[in-house]
Amino acid sequence: MNEYSSANQHAGGVAISQDNLVELMHRLETTLDNAYSCEEAFALLDEYVELVATTEEAEQLMPLVKNHLDLCPDCRDEFEILLHILKTADSTPDE
Ligand SMILES: [Zn+2]
Repeated sequence: MNEYSSANQHAGGVAISQDNLVELMHRLETTLDNAYSCEEAFALLDEYVELVATTEEAEQLMPLVKNHLDLCPDCRDEFEILLHILKTADSTPDE
């Protein structure tokens, strides 16, 4: 008597991407109190550099990265190198 069609149950698949997103956002919020480690700052450095290059609000948008750069000369060096690269690559050659 087991005539359940498995089609219905079969159709429901995996949908975890949204959950992952929410968790990520949550994580961002909860880490707001903590300073970044070099690893965390470095992982966001690309993004931060682009923000700095495009908006003056970069420090407000990613305060923890900025915070880390203030404290960590190593990462600051890296940031300045990246920023320089981005700016020279971005601007039209005028020399
Ligand atoms: Zn660092």
